[in-house]
Amino acid sequence: MSAQSIAVRNPATLQTIAELPVAQPDDVAAAVARARKAQAIWQDTSFAERSRLLYRLRDLLLDEQEKLADVLTSETGRPRAEVYGNELFYLCDAIGVWAKKGADYLRAEKIRPHFLLLKAKKVVTIYSPRGVVGIISPWNFPLTLTLGEAIPALMAGNAVVIKPSELTPLSALFGAELVARAGFPKNLFQVVVGYGETGEALIDHADMIAFTGSVDTGKRVMRRAAERLIPVSLELGGKDPMIVLKDADLERAAGACVWGALMNAGQVCTSIERVYVEAPVYQQFVDKVVEKVRAIRQGPSDDEVDVGSMTSEAQLQKVEAQVNEAMAQGAKALVGGRRNPRFKGNYFEPTVLIDVDPSMSVMKEETFGPIIPIVRVEDAEEAVRCANDSRYGLSGAIFSGSAKAAFRLAERMQSGSLCINDSLVNFIIPDAPMGGTKDSGFGYRHGAEGIRKFCQQKTIVTDRSGRKEEFPWFPASAKKTRQIRHLLALLCRSGWSNKWRALKGLIKS
Ligand code: NAD
Repeated sequence: MSAQSIAVRNPATLQTIAELPVAQPDDVAAAVARARKAQAIWQDTSFAERSRLLYRLRDLLLDEQEKLADVLTSETGRPRAEVYGNELFYLCDAIGVWAKKGADYLRAEKIRPHFLLLKAKKVVTIYSPRGVVGIISPWNFPLTLTLGEAIPALMAGNAVVIKPSELTPLSALFGAELVARAGFPKNLFQVVVGYGETGEALIDHADMIAFTGSVDTGKRVMRRAAERLIPVSLELGGKDPMIVLKDADLERAAGACVWGALMNAGQVCTSIERVYVEAPVYQQFVDKVVEKVRAIRQGPSDDEVDVGSMTSEAQLQKVEAQVNEAMAQGAKALVGGRRNPRFKGNYFEPTVLIDVDPSMSVMKEETFGPIIPIVRVEDAEEAVRCANDSRYGLSGAIFSGSAKAAFRLAERMQSGSLCINDSLVNFIIPDAPMGGTKDSGFGYRHGAEGIRKFCQQKTIVTDRSGRKEEFPWFPASAKKTRQIRHLLALLCRSGWSNKWRALKGLIKS
């Protein structure tokens, strides 16, 4: 029998903080049907009206930031400062970007046909909403990846039904409350709580699925969506590499590495998960990273805490297994390497690993935890080769004193985005497209593509000639065929003598 309820736990204290009923397949079907009705009205609202409501929502998010931080920290175990600095800051900025730029991204585009005889046609391509967008989300950014993902979909004229992670549904539910208070039409934004089965039901009814989560689930989502031929965007896992070249500013590189690997206890799709350092600066870099990691304060949510707990026991066990396997095979933990014995919640100590090799799962598979494995490489060539030797291709970072050399290296990296002399920052630029390649999925969030993906691009061709008939229309004749062939040669054959011959043939026929 399907699960009837979900117990939401605080991973820092292991206490149950909410008990929610699970949306069954029929409930999901009904939610989508209600959303469809709301969308039919919403699609006729102006962009100005949509922006106005988004700005109201942003004000409400700011008014309710204390409560929001309470909800977010309690279901994720993240430090409070991080919730403000990342989720809330990002979300408020993103709302501004979509409210301000959304209409421009979706402006109708005029197209000039290349073919001479089609010059009399007016060709315009427009962006129509898809209808009801189903959003299926993970637990690592429970507000950004639910409400945040929904903003461009709403701005584009869609309704949304969100299936948040079963581990962190409270942030999305609170987001729904604020959306309603901001004055968006009833049923335009709904949340269905549940496990994978609830997600499957959403795929069976929505007009598009925007999925963020693991590779395995992403494949299942795509297979199910294929049955209905509905579009999907897949934002999946990563194993992001960082390259440190010998001319890099090592202080900045080490700081960016620690931040990029440990923010949200490493539970970020674009976390730094493998570090390749050129031999001459390897030891100096490792020493700096170790010193910074030693200074990290771990503990329950507080303004003075850097790294919180992991959001689930299952994730902690996965991280623990990877670290234990690596250490059994010869890796050394210079800091950390175990659960944090000071707390009873899901805490794993920030860890620096050396003497790792590419066969270890900590170097091959996504870790999604506070682990920094560092590898010495001979030169930049070896670094790029190692970085690209992965089934993932989400993001990464390169540190060098030469921005030009780093850019050339970045062009050779197999990933959807990259930071030079920085880490993680690419995720918080809602104006710039961000997406993965290889097993990290496809489709983009952010930028023009991040809103156009929620639209059906439609091309409308209007005749402006006013003629009674067109040349290729019926009836066919031998003369018309000759003319078409001469015309084809005139327009498409290379060489002026060939074109001249075709023109003469056309005039004669
Ligand atoms: P997950 O794949 O286990 O779950 C994601 C969501 O899918 C959850 O809501 C889950 O209930 C739902 N789901 C499970 N089975 C389903 C099914 N058969 N049909 C439909 N929905 C189903 O992922 P997770 O553990 O929640 O999240 C961690 C993963 O998310 C990591 O791999 C991380 O890298 C990835 N992630 C990627 C990005 C990105 O932008 N690329 C961002 C954040 C997280």
